[in-house]
Amino acid sequence: MQDLKLIKTEKNKKILELSHSMMLNAYAPYSNFSVGAAILSERNRLFGGCNVENAAYPEGTCAEAGAISAMIAGGCKTIKEIYIISKSENIVSPCGGCRQKIREFSSEKTKIYLCNIKWEYKLFSLEELLPYSFSEFDDLK
Ligand SMILES: [Zn+2]
Repeated sequence: MQDLKLIKTEKNKKILELSHSMMLNAYAPYSNFSVGAAILSERNRLFGGCNVENAAYPEGTCAEAGAISAMIAGGCKTIKEIYIISKSENIVSPCGGCRQKIREFSSEKTKIYLCNIKWEYKLFSLEELLPYSFSEFDDLK
């Protein structure tokens, strides 16, 4: 994929390291597709999550959902930055459900870093990933 950039700053490395360690803890025996996510909250706190699959497939949860749950449980409400990584050399993209979950706790300033195992990324806004998204504050006419 073109337009990939390498994670360079210490701040970005720290957050990506957390998402990477979350990925290594993922429970993905069915898909063998481990994913990690790390969130930098509005209060500059870090939260992580990984995908957790289940023999009853629909009961599995995504890494982004786990990171969001940790953020909410930790008392924060807004995603300043979120990093998502898998073991692939291609960047990993959040599923539709997770895009909506991210939407619930994002602002127009939220940065979404989609990363690969080579620690490259492509940066997105939520508007790019989920245009015309649903929110209780939106008035879609
Ligand atoms: Zn998802």
